Amino acid sequence: MSLELDLRLAETGTRFRIFPQPRFLTKADGTPLFGEPETVTVSPPPGAVTAGPADDRMFVVDAVGKLPYNQFFRPPYTGATNPPVQPGPEGHFDHLDPASRDFSAATMYATVRRVLDIWQDYFGRTIEWHFSTAFAKLELIPLIEWNNAQSGFGFLEFGFGRTPTGTIDHTRPFCENFDVLAHELGHSLIFAEVGVPASPLDEGIDYGGMHESAGDLVAIVASLHFHSLVDMLLDNTKGNLLTINGLDRVGELSDTRQVRIALNALRMSDVDDEPHNRSLPLTGAIFDTMVEVFQQDLVDKKLISEELRTRSTNLPGTALDLEQIQADFTAAYTGNEAAFKESLLLARDYLGRLLATTWSDLSPDFLTYHGILRALLDADRTLTGGVNAAIIRACFAWREIAPVPTSMLLRQHTLTSCGLESTPAPAAAAADGYAPMIPAPRGSHQNLRR
Ligand SMILES: [Zn+2]
Repeated sequence: MSLELDLRLAETGTRFRIFPQPRFLTKADGTPLFGEPETVTVSPPPGAVTAGPADDRMFVVDAVGKLPYNQFFRPPYTGATNPPVQPGPEGHFDHLDPASRDFSAATMYATVRRVLDIWQDYFGRTIEWHFSTAFAKLELIPLIEWNNAQSGFGFLEFGFGRTPTGTIDHTRPFCENFDVLAHELGHSLIFAEVGVPASPLDEGIDYGGMHESAGDLVAIVASLHFHSLVDMLLDNTKGNLLTINGLDRVGELSDTRQVRIALNALRMSDVDDEPHNRSLPLTGAIFDTMVEVFQQDLVDKKLISEELRTRSTNLPGTALDLEQIQADFTAAYTGNEAAFKESLLLARDYLGRLLATTWSDLSPDFLTYHGILRALLDADRTLTGGVNAAIIRACFAWREIAPVPTSMLLRQHTLTSCGLESTPAPAAAAADGYAPMIPAPRGSHQNLRR
């Protein structure tokens, strides 16, 4: 969400308080990583968020004694419930005691509504629910007695984390975990905007990886709207955010799932077809794109030198001095904290719009990561006239995201195979059309990436 809209909503929307990260995460000294909830404002004005909380898109039902939904047991929930959470006298919900059950229930609504607000702004329109043929609103169930959580057709229902012995850990309600809620909403967003493969012949391997990656990216971009989280990220790294060797620089934030996912250094040759594993190089390529755009802005504003930017980018396989790079970032950041933050938030908003434009145009059928790369380049042309094309290409090339060896995109056409020579040789002519192709040598893949 743009900085301007965020400021405007803070004046007109309904206030809640939520924790940027789960309360059980602690610093090295044992104190909470985020000890205080941060005030967030959702777009419906006071009065439009009614008891529940509920609005025109979603509603909380604090079910009592409910079993998880399954194939035969689906929404709407009609069983016993706790009373709905009531707004304060001004219509806000920021009066709730963080130790109360009402606070947990309100957190679930505020998180999902906030993430939806953020992404609807990037899409520039309403995101309609993929289940709108059956239900008008999303049902949110915050605290069922279950050591798991799930999203499904028309609902999100959340239980608790597990103790080491597998029993329910009531100190870890999933509904207070911003990452998990945002990730699950990300799946709904992809169902709504990209859809699902139509053909039973489509194995959907990259589609599955894209789904998990999108869930994480929806969460990462949304979490970069918490000022406390952005401040901590920049204070720890001084803006040296590229992912290679990144985790040791983010200190205690490396305990958070989102940061671990974003700062991964995996390439396609490191992962298998399992969707979560396969998502990591794609998420890394896209997060790196944001970081490179951030650093480009720092160079443009003369906050870091082009030379430092190049040095920090070309890390893999080189013998550059990582400590010197960090020292140079620290020197550049000190005294320019606000300017660094503004550049990072601008890069965040570019990434949000880039992804929204990409997902709006992406076909789910026989989807490949290389197809996503092409859609991202198209989206960048739409948004910036192609200013960031070189950055996007480089970030994806490093992750080894390229056409698959059997892609028809790699087929070479000679004058002979095209029948444009005066006397085509019979064997070469037969190779044209849709005959099985011989994989191109590795060198020609490289050429196509540029
Ligand atoms: Zn997922």
